[in-house]
Amino acid sequence: MNAINIANVISTYSGGTGCACGCKGTYAYPEDTTATESQWGTLSDRTVKSRLKKLNDAIVEDRQVYLDTWFDRSCYEIQNDEGTRVVRIYVDTVTS
Ligand SMILES: [Zn+2]
Repeated sequence: MNAINIANVISTYSGGTGCACGCKGTYAYPEDTTATESQWGTLSDRTVKSRLKKLNDAIVEDRQVYLDTWFDRSCYEIQNDEGTRVVRIYVDTVTS
């Protein structure tokens, strides 16, 4: 698995597992996002970068990374030791 380029990041999530509506965590988007759903999160390059760094550190260190892909998106996920909190990075599979 290769480290993810920030240019390919569509959105990020950090918080609890389970419900994905955002009630257990927060979504953050790049400040130049065009994603219509970004109204449900915050626009912060700083937050996106810090979440992406956690994922890329896990990839470089060959720790467990979960990957889900569907038609035009992929989601990378890392979990805490208890599996109760996650960081998810959503990327465009066309460009990644
Ligand atoms: Zn919810």
